[in-house]
Amino acid sequence: MTQKLDLVLDELVTANRILAREEVVDSFGHVSVRHPERPDRYLLSRARAPERIEVEDIMEFTLEGEPIDARDRKPYLERFIHGALYEARPDVQAVVHNHSPSVIPFGVTGTKLKPLLHMCASIGHNVPLWDSHDKFGDTALLVENMDMGRDLAKSLDKGRTGLMRGHGAVVVGQTLRQAVFISVYLELAAKLQMQAMPLGSVKYLTDGEVDKVINRTGPYTLDRAWENWCRRADRTMNASV
Ligand SMILES: [Zn+2]
Repeated sequence: MTQKLDLVLDELVTANRILAREEVVDSFGHVSVRHPERPDRYLLSRARAPERIEVEDIMEFTLEGEPIDARDRKPYLERFIHGALYEARPDVQAVVHNHSPSVIPFGVTGTKLKPLLHMCASIGHNVPLWDSHDKFGDTALLVENMDMGRDLAKSLDKGRTGLMRGHGAVVVGQTLRQAVFISVYLELAAKLQMQAMPLGSVKYLTDGEVDKVINRTGPYTLDRAWENWCRRADRTMNASV
């Protein structure tokens, strides 16, 4: 195994632990990263709660969701979310899927989720809503094949976040740190918007403000959060990968 791959695997374990510690995922939800040497593959844990994941749990998949060396490990049913997004978006290097609680009300009411706090600008200008029922009718709401994954990926267009009706959200990033960062602040954005709306008319960030914040949210910001979250999750912070 190469040193780079070792670091990416370690970073992926850390990303899982942070998302659990920050309560973006519970026993369900998952995070993946594109394989650093094989852009046509991705790395994702076997089906296990993110808080419990070790490096031995990480499996390699083709973009179609076929495991490369499964051994006795059972993959997540919803792995197709990840492959479909890597397939549709060459710019994407990391994907989070979660059932983060505060986003759920936005997925079922049609009320648009929009950033109102500077830290939440990372969720992007538009948080689209994907409703599996539109194309697939009555299902268990799980993304259990590539058809559903591709339909979901299409709804994101070039965006960073998307909601799934009655189910959760997806977040994409150019690094694991960025995808985790956006996921944490997507949950906060939803919580704050629900607190602000009963108080009166909400003044959201303008498109120009969102752009300006996004442009200055680089390693300076991401690494500061990452260091803190690593400590809270009892993980060692590595150099960026
Ligand atoms: Zn799910």
